[in-house]
Amino acid sequence: MSHTAEIIAVGTELLLGNIVNTNAQAISQSLSALGINVFWHTVVGDNPERLKEAVEIARRRADIIITTGGLGPTYDDLTKQTVCQVFGEKLVFHPEILEEIRAFYETALHVPMPENNTQQAELPEHGVIFDNPVGTAPGCAFESGGVHVLMLPGPPHEMAAMLRRHAEPYLRGLSREVIVSHDIMTFGMGESSVEELLRERMTHMTNPTLATYAKPFEVRLRATAKAESGEEAETLLAPVVELVRNTLGDAVYGVDVSGLAEVCLAGLRERNMTFATAESCTGGRVAEQITALPGASKVYRGGVVSYWTEVKGRVLGVPQDILDTYGPVSEECARAMAEGARRITGAEIAVSVTGAAGPDPDERGVPVGVVYVGLAAPEGTFCRRLDFGRRRRDRIRGLAANHAFDVIRRYLAGLPI
Ligand code: ATP
Repeated sequence: MSHTAEIIAVGTELLLGNIVNTNAQAISQSLSALGINVFWHTVVGDNPERLKEAVEIARRRADIIITTGGLGPTYDDLTKQTVCQVFGEKLVFHPEILEEIRAFYETALHVPMPENNTQQAELPEHGVIFDNPVGTAPGCAFESGGVHVLMLPGPPHEMAAMLRRHAEPYLRGLSREVIVSHDIMTFGMGESSVEELLRERMTHMTNPTLATYAKPFEVRLRATAKAESGEEAETLLAPVVELVRNTLGDAVYGVDVSGLAEVCLAGLRERNMTFATAESCTGGRVAEQITALPGASKVYRGGVVSYWTEVKGRVLGVPQDILDTYGPVSEECARAMAEGARRITGAEIAVSVTGAAGPDPDERGVPVGVVYVGLAAPEGTFCRRLDFGRRRRDRIRGLAANHAFDVIRRYLAGLPI
């Protein structure tokens, strides 16, 4: 049986716009990975009447209700009392939970527990208690009339820990189905082009399903199957992954990988190759992304952020006549930067990025959004010219960095650059 869930976030700060409802996002992501349909997100202030109304509505239309917030010891933390009142569930005092909370105060926070925390040890009579390893308010879950109610704390790190440790196993236990997903990562095509090519097939799919998600500079497709076993789910998924690969061709750069940088790192390690960077408009973004990954030291020699034209000349050895004749944002300069980085680091390959990120065109009138990505390799030097148009500065820089990795992964795969 498939479940229908509603998330109720409690907190006046959310309604005032003081904070963003990131808990609802995190819970939704986790439920969708479990194959549970989330049909509603509700936000309600710290007001018992309105919270009661929200819970009454939710119990009529959902069979899983997850609340977040309002479990604390303060007077406006009313979630437990209100929810239990709607479901006719009694709150009972748990002395052992109070001792855990007291111990958390004394050992983790090094202060005595304030007396109003006693209230946090009052929990529904039935169901299960979720301990809170990183905070004081325990959460809980109970079932009443076919509706499962889970209550989680508001602070995001406490909520996330309890979600992973307690709520997900609880929800998994409600269904005998196994949900398996694969993320198919693509680069170089916009979300609408990807959808256009796959729409016909996607709309007719029920199990597995295929959905697109635009990440900041690329498009991810998630294929999800429900089955009685993991193997059965994999059997359902294999032709869908194949279909996407066949349809999108070499825009697909990996399955279940975190990003282009990870694929490049793996490819370079496999071939026992090293690389270096020479970056101008990306300001070290390529270097940052590769060094964020464990194992980067095996392949990455280092790089130069040659932002100033003279650094391109003096450090990377870009010939002065290239700088004078073509300027720092040019194919010639990108090639010379990559060759310079390769030479000074001794890496097998080097990638370079130079471009006009805006908001103003560069001194020589190169339009905003024009970027050159160079690659120096034993076989020769390559260059990709890009024109991102008048996009925002940050977007141009992000896209340019991803193109640098795309050039590397294509070089490693023997694809045209
Ligand atoms: P506490 O024990 O801290 O009182 P609580 O369960 O009562 O926890 P709230 O008081 O409702 O939680 O929220 C505590 C803090 O957690 C808020 O000030 C806010 O910073 C953050 N928070 C609450 N709800 C959300 C939410 N839905 N999304 C993101 N952050 C939230």
